Amino acid sequence: MNDAPSDLRERYERLQALHTISTALNSTLDPRDLLKLVLSEAVRVTKADSGSVVLINPNTGRLDIEEAVGLGERVAEVKLRLGEGITGWVAKSGRPLRVGDVNHDPRYVAVREGVRSELAVPLEFEGQVQGVLNVDSDRPDAFSAADEELLIALAAQAARVLHNAWLIRQLRQRAAQLETLITIGRDILSPLTLDEVLQRVVREARRLMNARLSSLLLLTPDREELELRASDGAGEDYVRRPNLKVCDCLLGVVVRHKRPLTVANVQESDQYRHTELARKEGLVSLLSVPLTSGGDAIGVLSVYTAEPHRFSNDDILLLTALASLGSVAVRKAQLYEKIVDAEEQLRQNERLSALGLLAAEIAHEIRNPLTVVKMLFHSLDLQFPAGDPRARDVAIIQQKMEQMNRVLDQTLTFARRSEPRVEPADLNALLDDVLLLVRHKLAQHNIVLQWQPAAHLPAVPLDRTQIEQAALNLILNATQAMPSGGTLTIATRAEDAEVCVTVADTGVGMTPEVQQRLFDLFLTSKPAGTGLGLALVRKIIEAHRGRIEVESAPRKGTTFSLFLPTERG
Ligand code: ADP
Ligand code: MG
Repeated sequence: MNDAPSDLRERYERLQALHTISTALNSTLDPRDLLKLVLSEAVRVTKADSGSVVLINPNTGRLDIEEAVGLGERVAEVKLRLGEGITGWVAKSGRPLRVGDVNHDPRYVAVREGVRSELAVPLEFEGQVQGVLNVDSDRPDAFSAADEELLIALAAQAARVLHNAWLIRQLRQRAAQLETLITIGRDILSPLTLDEVLQRVVREARRLMNARLSSLLLLTPDREELELRASDGAGEDYVRRPNLKVCDCLLGVVVRHKRPLTVANVQESDQYRHTELARKEGLVSLLSVPLTSGGDAIGVLSVYTAEPHRFSNDDILLLTALASLGSVAVRKAQLYEKIVDAEEQLRQNERLSALGLLAAEIAHEIRNPLTVVKMLFHSLDLQFPAGDPRARDVAIIQQKMEQMNRVLDQTLTFARRSEPRVEPADLNALLDDVLLLVRHKLAQHNIVLQWQPAAHLPAVPLDRTQIEQAALNLILNATQAMPSGGTLTIATRAEDAEVCVTVADTGVGMTPEVQQRLFDLFLTSKPAGTGLGLALVRKIIEAHRGRIEVESAPRKGTTFSLFLPTERG
């Protein structure tokens, strides 16, 4: 190595430049400032006339000029493709390139007039080229091998900064995304209406995905059309657009296949029906994911960007997470509606049966005196000569009494209908039938069934449908109490004037507090429970003049015993 003073000075300057950058790296400078610093040091130390840092844009595949020195104002408009120009070649190959005379290099694309030589090195981190650092000079052969070495060292520093900055941004984004998902999750449980929650979902989708527009469409009840339920960033025309036919639109594909869909540019897509609208609203790339509920698609959540964008797997996951929250909100609203319906129906039923009872009572009260009146009237044996108007009156009185009797009969039959239709039945056979229905479900949940029918069971007067329903309710509750399997023991036995059915599980059991309110309407500990099951069971057993008993211990299991009288009352 030549140790002439000028060389020594140059080497000192290079070390100085590297040192400056390393020091800056350890301070909290913003990545932009660091790139600026790296570039200015590179230009200064290599005595270049101009220079730039370009980064590969993963969405467009083009090279965006991030920082420039000495290249004039309009340099920002230059967008080289990967492989285009000396910079593009370096970006593509990942190798440094030193060109002594650009006029003799066919790869060269002039960004500034007067450039004679150029030196470009890749910005590379862990084998991935992120961009290029390059310097130009008006003199031919302006850059030495030592310049190249320095630039490579600077580029390594810059790439590390970029990578770290990118990681930090990524982490910040993730944190923001998680926070959003959690708040929307909380919103769903709050008393916000469905529309308010869906509006939140689209707004956050648009914000988190940096999108121009986001929309949420739900299937109409006939599942043939998609109806816009919420949107953010949409113009009037978009909002007023009529429903989409599922069978012939792109979003319909998402619903039908229940899979996410991306379109690089909807304005140029053959399948996208509304290219005109897309142009008007400035929509470019589309990501669309299905909303599903119980395995069925119920709608789509979409985001459109204003610039070409390649959606990553993370983007798809995030939008899918938002869509699931939307689905949960819809499901919750539907369930709520159902519960309100069921409650209303129940009240209706209760009112009806109360009315029925009242009617029956009145009918009884009237029937008895009416029978007396009829008897007395006949015993009067009123005979009038023909032509006497009283003869007609007697006939009318008789006729009206018959009519009253018929009305009473009808009222009593009607009132009786809400009572169980009781017929002597074999309880063991009835339970056999019910168990046939649930065998598969039990096996699926790793539940061992022990069925112990009593050998000689007297026939029991019962309403078959109602008792089946009661048994099924108890068995399903037992199954739900054993989410990770267990043993379900069902037994019958005869006792004095009663028969008894026991349904015993080895499940979660209940606290004394739950036991006390067990038969209350709407008492449930399950996310999808109704709390109607046991209330119904009790109503049925009471209608049979039977009784129901419970024994339970937390984490040990629960035993329900139903007692039914063998004699009709
Ligand atoms: P639902 O099943 O819709 O919750 P139910 O009226 O059938 O309504 O049951 C009410 C509640 O009683 C259940 O949510 C549960 O907390 C409790 N329960 C009923 N059966 C059992 C059982 N076998 N083991 C543990 N808890 C039970
Ligand atoms: Mg139940």
